[in-house]
Amino acid sequence: MALANHFYQNLAGSYLFSEIAKRVNKYSAENPDKKIIRLGIGDVTKPLPPSVIAALHKAVDEQATAEGFRGYGPEQGYDFLRETIVNDCFAQFGFEKDEIFVSDGAKSDIGNFQELFDISCKVAITDPVYPVYADSNVMAGRAAAQKDGLFQGIIYLSCTSENNFVPELPKERPDIIYLCYPNNPTGTVLTKEQLKIWVDYARANESIILFDSAYEAFIRTPGIPHSIYEIEGAKECAVEFRSYSKIAGFTGLRCGYVVIPRNLSLKTKNGGSAALRDLWLRRQTTKYNGTPYVVQRAAQAVHGEQGKKEVKELIDAYLLNAKHIREGFANMGLTVYGGVDAPYVWLKLPINDSWKFFDELLNQVNIVGTPGQGFGLCGEGYFRLTAFGSYENTLEAVERLKKFKF
Ligand SMILES: *Cc1c(COP(=O)(O)O)cnc(C)c1O
Repeated sequence: MALANHFYQNLAGSYLFSEIAKRVNKYSAENPDKKIIRLGIGDVTKPLPPSVIAALHKAVDEQATAEGFRGYGPEQGYDFLRETIVNDCFAQFGFEKDEIFVSDGAKSDIGNFQELFDISCKVAITDPVYPVYADSNVMAGRAAAQKDGLFQGIIYLSCTSENNFVPELPKERPDIIYLCYPNNPTGTVLTKEQLKIWVDYARANESIILFDSAYEAFIRTPGIPHSIYEIEGAKECAVEFRSYSKIAGFTGLRCGYVVIPRNLSLKTKNGGSAALRDLWLRRQTTKYNGTPYVVQRAAQAVHGEQGKKEVKELIDAYLLNAKHIREGFANMGLTVYGGVDAPYVWLKLPINDSWKFFDELLNQVNIVGTPGQGFGLCGEGYFRLTAFGSYENTLEAVERLKKFKF
C-alpha cells in the first residue's frame, strides 16, 4: 500500500458537528413529538436575491447560443467581475483589477493560500477560531498534532471576555497571522485603532496578515472597518479574503475572491524576493480552472444598485434575528457578545461546560446551538448561536427561553 500523507494524521477528529448531530438525533428519536429549532447552523436559509437570479437566467441563456457560449474562462476571473469588484470596493485604496483573484469561495482560498509559504513559517491564529486556518496548516506539515487541545507549533491568540475578544500581540513572532473580522464564532469586531495595532506589528515584524472579511457586509456600527485596507499601511502587509456566501446567499452557488496587493512579497531562499500575487497566479493557473461564467455574472449583480438594496434587506433580516437572540439570552441574565455587526451571538455561560449547556438547552426547550469548546480551548464556557434561521423559528426560540432555567 502507498503511504498516506502523515501530516493528515495530525488533524484532530471533526468531532464537533458529528457530536452535535449524534446528540440531536438521539433526542429526537426519544422525543419524536418535539419540534427542534436549530440555531447552530452556519448556513444561510434565505433564497438568492431576485437580481442575482435574473443575472443567472440571462447567463444560462447565453450558453445556449454560439456567440454567448463560454468555455474555460480566465483562471483569475473575468474582467467584468474583477473590474466591478475593484470599482465598487477597492479602487478607493488604489487597487487595480489585476490584484483581484476570483474563486469558488473563501474557504478554498484561505485553505489553499498557505501553500505559498515555506513549511518553516510560523502561524498565529485566534482562539476560538474558524477551523480552516489551523487545519490547512496542519495538513501542510506546518504544525504538529494537538497536545491538551492545542496544535503544537501554532501560536494561539486568546480571545475571551477578559480582553473583550481583542487579541493581544504575540510574544513570539509569527510569519503568518490569520484575523477574521467580523469574527466567526464570537460575532465581535475590531475598531480601526485595534486593527491598526496589528497592521503596525505586521509591518514592523515583516509578517503577513491573512484577513478574512467574509462577514463585512453585516457591519452596521459606523466607523468599524469593512476592509483591512482602511488601515494605513495594510497594503504592505495584508491579503484580504471575501465571499459572497453569507452576504448574498451564495453558499451553494460558490463565489469569493482574494485581494493581493501588487507590492506584497516573500523572500526566496537565494536571497531574492517573490511577489505574492505572482505566486498565487502560478498556483491558480496550475490547480484551478476558473469560477463558472454564470456564477461570476451572478456575483456581478450583487454589486449593482438593485443587488445592493436586496442584499441589505437580506442581511437586515438576519441581523434582526440576531437582535432577538441577544435580547432573549440577555433577559435570562446571561452576558451576550456579538450579534450587532455579525450573524453570530456568543454567550458567556455561568459554568465552564459548554456541552452541559448544550444538553440543557436541547432537553428543556429543544433549541440547538454550538458549544464554544468546539472552536478552541478559549471557547469553553461560551456558546454560539446563529441568526441564519427563519424569523418565525427565531421568535419561537426566544419565547421558549422564558421557560429555560439554568
Ligand atoms: C462561511 C465562512 C467563510 C466563507 O466560505 P465560502 O467558502 O466562501 O462559503 C469564510 N470564512 C469564515 C470565517 C466563514 O465563516
